[in-house]
Amino acid sequence: MKNFGPDYYNISDFLSDEELLIQQTAFDFVKTEFLPLINEHYEKGTFPLELISKLGDLGFLGSSLPIESGGAGVTNIAYGLILHELERGDSGLRSFASVQGALVMYPIHAFGSSEQRAKWLSDLGKGIKIGCFGLTEPNFGSNPGGMATACKKDGDDWIINGSKMWITNGSIADIAIIWAKDGEGIIRGFILEKGMKGFTSNDIHGKLSLRASITSELSMVDVRVPDSSRLPNIEGLKGPLSCLTQARYGIAWGMLGAAVDCYNTALEYAKERKQFSKPIAGYQLTQAKLAEMITKITEAQLMVYRLGQLKDQGKMSFQQVSMAKRNNCAIARDIAKISREILGGNGITIDYSPIRHMANIESVYTYEGTHEMHTLIIGEDVTGLPSYD
Ligand SMILES: Cc1cc2nc3c(=O)[nH]c(=O)nc-3n(C[C@H](O)[C@H](O)[C@H](O)COP(=O)(O)OP(=O)(O)OC[C@H]3O[C@@H](n4cnc5c(N)ncnc54)[C@H](O)[C@@H]3O)c2cc1C
Repeated sequence: MKNFGPDYYNISDFLSDEELLIQQTAFDFVKTEFLPLINEHYEKGTFPLELISKLGDLGFLGSSLPIESGGAGVTNIAYGLILHELERGDSGLRSFASVQGALVMYPIHAFGSSEQRAKWLSDLGKGIKIGCFGLTEPNFGSNPGGMATACKKDGDDWIINGSKMWITNGSIADIAIIWAKDGEGIIRGFILEKGMKGFTSNDIHGKLSLRASITSELSMVDVRVPDSSRLPNIEGLKGPLSCLTQARYGIAWGMLGAAVDCYNTALEYAKERKQFSKPIAGYQLTQAKLAEMITKITEAQLMVYRLGQLKDQGKMSFQQVSMAKRNNCAIARDIAKISREILGGNGITIDYSPIRHMANIESVYTYEGTHEMHTLIIGEDVTGLPSYD
């Protein structure tokens, strides 16, 4: 598959014709519709809102969910390939799709009532409505179970108070999946709608990473919602954590897309750029860098491909997802840096993608569980000894 590249171990031989076609469609969309816009949005710190319905039309939102849940019913490998291509474009684009599909559509599909599914999923899948996911708080990031946001039953309603921090799509969202703790310490999920009394958002400015993505703070002051807005089929921290497993799966594929774009850019540049007597690609030091990059990319491809098989077979564990998210963020981070280095002075400008990816990866490395938290998850899995509470 020419666009999967580099495909050193011919992994595309394992992909179905449908999966290859889906990847090609996503690649073409990013190339023709997204890349011409990204630099301007990145510099301004905005997101190309006009592309949201197109993402929906192409079936890129919640793609692996069943069609009746607003998805496209494609395999998890196809879903991964879509996110790979979106993040080859920019992490902001992939983040939009991840939040909408894995963090908003998934919990409504998995934990919502039939009324909630009927009300929201089709519009979310088409990109007619936008969602966000509020778990992190100003004082609770890596330990979301400590959350201070509170929900209190009042007759047939719930009253919600608290604030959520770093919320992707926060201010542009029509609905928010908000996680809050009741008086007995049980975490519950709610669907809050834009415009509800006491529910407000403020965008976070000054980001030097993931600039083409809206990130907001959400505030809830005595927000009254009916019990029908509560996700009825889940309680406890496993609710938000199971959504994060879905999103982390996509991030592992997405980071690979960013790494591939950095590698391709560096390879092309190194073959063109002449210093001393020949192209810089002809020098052993540059070749060592390229060899290292393609090896890491190949390892990461094998990891996500196998992870996708396990997910499609219903056998994937959240610890396996942690390993792929952790590994692929780390290798993408290294590859972006080395790629930037190969581009020399040109590498520090927005005219070339590596430094944009490099800055974005800092967010992706941190969100959806930091590198350290995934290290601890794997550490607990292999030793049986939790190192945090
Ligand atoms: C651009 C962006 C978008 C985001 N979007 C969303 C969103 O849509 N919804 C949402 O709910 N959240 C979102 N987040 C929040 C994100 O998930 C958190 O930033 C992340 O979980 C880390 O939390 P924190 O920033 O509070 O860092 P902290 O938890 O304070 O961690 C700070 C550092 O301490 C380390 N650390 C923490 N605990 C331990 C430990 N036990 N042992 C060793 N090291 C430790 C961490 O690894 C990290 O390096 C987003 C974040 C960013 C930056």
